[in-house]
Amino acid sequence: MSDKPEKFIDENGLRLDGRQVDEMRPMKMELGVISRADGSCYLEWGKNKVMAAVYGPRELHPRRMQKADSVLIRYRYNMAAFSVEDRIRPGPNRRSIEISKVSREAFEPVVLTHLYPGAVIDVFAEVLQADAGTRTAAINAASMALADAGIPMKGLVAACAVGKVDGQLVLDLNKAEDNFGDADFPMTFTQDGEVSLVQMDGNFTQEEFKQAVEMCKEGCQKILGMQQEALRNKFAGELSTDEVDVELIEEDVVEAESDDVDEGAAEPEEVDEDVEESQDDVEDDSMIKADEPEFEEDEPEDEPESEEDEPEEETA
Ligand code: ADP
Repeated sequence: MSDKPEKFIDENGLRLDGRQVDEMRPMKMELGVISRADGSCYLEWGKNKVMAAVYGPRELHPRRMQKADSVLIRYRYNMAAFSVEDRIRPGPNRRSIEISKVSREAFEPVVLTHLYPGAVIDVFAEVLQADAGTRTAAINAASMALADAGIPMKGLVAACAVGKVDGQLVLDLNKAEDNFGDADFPMTFTQDGEVSLVQMDGNFTQEEFKQAVEMCKEGCQKILGMQQEALRNKFAGELSTDEVDVELIEEDVVEAESDDVDEGAAEPEEVDEDVEESQDDVEDDSMIKADEPEFEEDEPEDEPESEEDEPEEETA
């Protein structure tokens, strides 16, 4: 670990990495990077590199862990062994378990959990390169991965931290500020402006605390703007008509319409009622299925549960 710098902020008010006190490190994100996940996001924030992947909603096993009236959100924050200078021992530790817990809770106010009773949504946040602020980077990436997975949410979640160095509040701590500074204060805000995570390491005066909340809020608003833009770019791209020749489509439509009129006028009696009915059925079914989690089709609710799933009931 490098030594504590003599000064964190120079005479021009700039930090060691040249930023203003209220300036964030550059952030970029890319959606849909893991094809097997339902949603994913790769995010870089300064030197932090984080990958978030979302799987679900899917059936939760063992069944005794299912929540009868809501989906279970599981969140796993993990730092790769190679993400820091000295290798980290693989597997969960006290820090990663704590970060996973508070990060999961940060999403509870936004995810519409009642829509998928009995199901689970797994969120994996893997830190590939760490440089302070990895829990907030992971939350920002996870928020995007959840949106990419199409999980119904009231809005996105954004996270950033404020700290204190040389007696001044600074937004989005770098590694030296995090290691040697006087405070580290990560927060998350929902799109509605609700606070869903606050942690605090170090000391603030009451006035500093108020200022820090405002700084975090502004930082999160900027991040929300970037997240929304990334989502618009991805989904607007998918819906884009740029490469479609609109004139040709219009010609086809006119042709098809005139064909329909001719055929329909000539042979209306050829419409097969059975076929029409079965098509209606298919449409009705697909509309119902679209609102239900896929796994419910496989196992109707009234099917008896297997013995393996509920060992407690057997012995009770
Ligand atoms: P955050 O990354 O959310 O700021 P911390 O404040 O706990 O969380 O950690 C600050 C930074 O310290 C991390 O981003 C990482 O660069 C480094 N760090 C954390 N844990 C370890 C570890 N076990 N070994 C080496 N470096 C670590």
